[in-house]
Amino acid sequence: MNACLFDGRAVRLDRAYPEPVPAAGEVRVRVLLAGVCRTDLEIVKGYMRFVGVLGHEFVGVAMDGRLAGRRVVGEINCPCGGCDLCAAGLPTHCRRRTVLGIAGRDGAFAERLILPEKNLHEVPDVVGDRAAVFAEPLAAAIQIGRQVELKPGTRVVVLGDGRLGQLAAQVLRAWRMAPVVVGKSDAKLDILASLGIACIHADHARPARDAAVVVECTGTADGLAMAMQFVRPRGTIVLKSTVADTAGLDLAPLVVDEITVVGSRCGPMAEAVAMLAAGQVQVAPLITAEYALDDAPQALEAAARPEAIKVLIRP
Ligand SMILES: [Zn+2]
Ligand SMILES: [Zn+2]
Repeated sequence: MNACLFDGRAVRLDRAYPEPVPAAGEVRVRVLLAGVCRTDLEIVKGYMRFVGVLGHEFVGVAMDGRLAGRRVVGEINCPCGGCDLCAAGLPTHCRRRTVLGIAGRDGAFAERLILPEKNLHEVPDVVGDRAAVFAEPLAAAIQIGRQVELKPGTRVVVLGDGRLGQLAAQVLRAWRMAPVVVGKSDAKLDILASLGIACIHADHARPARDAAVVVECTGTADGLAMAMQFVRPRGTIVLKSTVADTAGLDLAPLVVDEITVVGSRCGPMAEAVAMLAAGQVQVAPLITAEYALDDAPQALEAAARPEAIKVLIRP
């Protein structure tokens, strides 16, 4: 089959990649549409030491199992089921997990992929492919509310106007918050403004240490430092950027101001599908471009450009 892989040095298309073979409890999925994520771009830079088929955001059609013939999205973490963290009900933190297109498991930039059957969630007809492909990053945005207590009226600042910042802001608004997004791209901030979400360019922001919750989606090393300027004493910083760097950063304010820092990753896919079905989140304005799988290497290049939000790949 055709697949786009990272071989440790370069991204390339393989037209004769071996057909994936499901193990017990696993099913094949024919990929309809996939999305490029920052994580893919980091893998290509060598950060995760992953070699194989890239991609973890997808919508497809299940080829086997109870959902055969149905459109599905899938949880990307594949737990072992036997370790202490699996036993503790933390399967997404399984010590021996594989992760679709990220760790030990070929991903979604291919004609077909393999996932455990229990990872799949059916997509209702009302959610089109170009919306369903957002389920995974949307779930990551929803995870914020699983980890932090948010009440209507809570003062929330979202740092970053990229893929995740856009989704986080929309999710918070759907939950009746009034988030303020701080970003660096006028075009991306305009999308938020057109959806009625308050936003401000970072050059004009006046951080006043007054936000109860700061959601850090900058995708940059200095995101935590920036978040510390916005969060109020006893407030919470939700860190979404895996590239956050504390080198040279004075962490004393975290102690003095009794700040809680919460790391946050993958979230509930079923809830994401439900939000898309209910029309609570608008993803169409976030699609920058769509490429054929044949052109997947160019799609990754396009996704790395600063003006890109979400770039899609269609097998
Ligand atoms: Zn992703
Ligand atoms: Zn486990």
